[in-house]
Amino acid sequence: MYKANLHLLEACPCRCRHCFSRFEDGRSLPFEDWVRVIKELRVGGVTDINLAGGEPLLYPHLSALTARIREEGMRVSIITNGLLFSEQWLRDMAPDFDAVGISVDTFRPELARQMGRCLPDGTCMTSGRFRRLVDSIRICSPETRIKLNTVVTRDNWDDASMRGVRGVDRRKIFRMKVFETEGFSNRDLSVTDGQFESYVSGLVPGYRFHACPDVFRADEGGEIVVEPVMDRSYLIIDPQGNVIDNKGDASHIAGNLLTDSLEDCARHIRADLYKARYVGPDKP
Ligand code: SF4
Repeated sequence: MYKANLHLLEACPCRCRHCFSRFEDGRSLPFEDWVRVIKELRVGGVTDINLAGGEPLLYPHLSALTARIREEGMRVSIITNGLLFSEQWLRDMAPDFDAVGISVDTFRPELARQMGRCLPDGTCMTSGRFRRLVDSIRICSPETRIKLNTVVTRDNWDDASMRGVRGVDRRKIFRMKVFETEGFSNRDLSVTDGQFESYVSGLVPGYRFHACPDVFRADEGGEIVVEPVMDRSYLIIDPQGNVIDNKGDASHIAGNLLTDSLEDCARHIRADLYKARYVGPDKP
């Protein structure tokens, strides 16, 4: 298994303060160019595509692109803030995805708004809304795995509102990645090892911080994946088809899949590290 995250576009209605989906050019490639990118990823050995953004539900050709990924024989998942779903979308689209991931950092509305994880009118993910969403996905597409991603920052490291979440197949807890470019830095939101440990131990009693991913069984069912370091956590393809190496606090372009093969790009990015992280069904 070798997974790539396709950041289809930069646009998103939320304004998360920790968001590192910031690209040199956030406009999305034309549809046929994305198809070329997908073919190149398949040739390069990628087996799983995760559609991301920005907010991928804003991408206008999502259904057609998902179909093309499946035609290439790859699995496809999506990661979204979950605030734009409609019943119709869930009925029509959820069965197309092997997994739907929803990013939520807190169920406390005032904290979600402080963190920026809300729509412009202040709508955010509450526990009731999340429960209804999970139920709807289960009804519309029983085979689709449901994932819940949470980023731990200085704002929510002591928040307990998301303990005891039920009904998801996998939770991922990410320590916020520090990301700095010209004119942007989220460093002030970073957490200490102890703060991250404190958050995780609220879900996994006895957890002790160390700088490697862990997988635990959750009492509520499903598994909890703990990601204390997000260096090279997954292969990033930006909205222009660039392969991005996200080592350290910054990122750089290793090549473009419209002109370079994934193999060529991989020479610059230690692709073995990305692959190693995702080899085998039990890896997070
Ligand atoms: S929902 Fe995701 S893409 Fe949108 S601002 Fe937040 S972190 Fe960034």
